[in-house]
Amino acid sequence: MPFAATILTLYPEMFPGPLGVSLAGRALREGSWSLDAVQIRDFATDKHRSVDDTPAGGGAGMVLRADVLAAAVDSVAGDCPILAMTPRGTPLTQQRVREIAQGPGVSILCGRFEGFDERLFEARAIEPVSIGDYVLSGGEMGALVLLDACIRLLPGVMGAPSSGDDESFETGLLEYPQYTRPVEWEGRTIPEVLRSGDHAKIAAWRKSMAERDTRLRRPDLWERHEGARVQSPSGARRED
Ligand code: SAH
Repeated sequence: MPFAATILTLYPEMFPGPLGVSLAGRALREGSWSLDAVQIRDFATDKHRSVDDTPAGGGAGMVLRADVLAAAVDSVAGDCPILAMTPRGTPLTQQRVREIAQGPGVSILCGRFEGFDERLFEARAIEPVSIGDYVLSGGEMGALVLLDACIRLLPGVMGAPSSGDDESFETGLLEYPQYTRPVEWEGRTIPEVLRSGDHAKIAAWRKSMAERDTRLRRPDLWERHEGARVQSPSGARRED
C-alpha cells in the first residue's frame, strides 16, 4: 500500500502544489504515495456553509468550529495518525517525520484565521504539531513541509538509499559542510583533506566539522547530543 496523505483544508487547490514536482511529484505519479485533499467546508451544516465563528471571550479574527472540523476528521480513514498544524503544537522533528514515514500514512488538519476551537483536541485523538516558532497565515504550508520531509524517506523516492544517513538531525548533529567542483572558485579551494582519498581522515574531518557547526549554530542540539553521550554507555563507547 502506498503512503496515504490526507489533507483537510479550506484550500484544497494548494495541493499537491510544490509536491507535484521533482522527486515527490515523480513518486506521486508512480504511486509511491497518494494524496487526498479534503474540503473542510463540505462538512459545514448551516445554509451559509460556515466553518468559523467569532472567538469566545472576544478578540480579533475568527475561530474554526469544532463541530465542522470533527465531522471532517471523522470522515477520514482511521489507521493513520491525525495531526493538526498549529504554532501551539509540539515542534516537528526528524524523528517524528521518520516514524510517520514508516507508517501507513498521515492525515493533516490545516488551520486558518485564529486556529481551532480547543475542544476538538479534547474530543478527538489529534496531535498538535508546529513547524517552528513563527506564525504562518495557514496550516497548508506546514502540511506541505511535513509531507515533503516524509515523502523523501519513502522507499525508492530518493536516489541512493544511504544518502540520508549522515544528514542533519539523523545523528543528532547538523551535517558537515559539502563541496563540489570546481576545485578552485573565486580563489577558494575545496579543503585539502576531501581531495586526499583517505577515507578515515575524511570521516574524522567531517565529524569534527559537524560538531563545530552544531556547537556554533545550534547550541540546543549540541547540549542534547552531549547529554546523550554522557548518559548512554553505548554512545560513550562510540565516541571513545
Ligand atoms: N492564533 C494562532 C495562530 C493562527 S495562524 C496562535 O497564535 O497560535 C493560522 C493557522 O496557520 C493555524 O491555525 C495553523 O494551522 C497555521 N500555522 C501558523 N503557524 C504555524 C506553525 N508555526 N506551525 C504549524 N502551523 C502553523
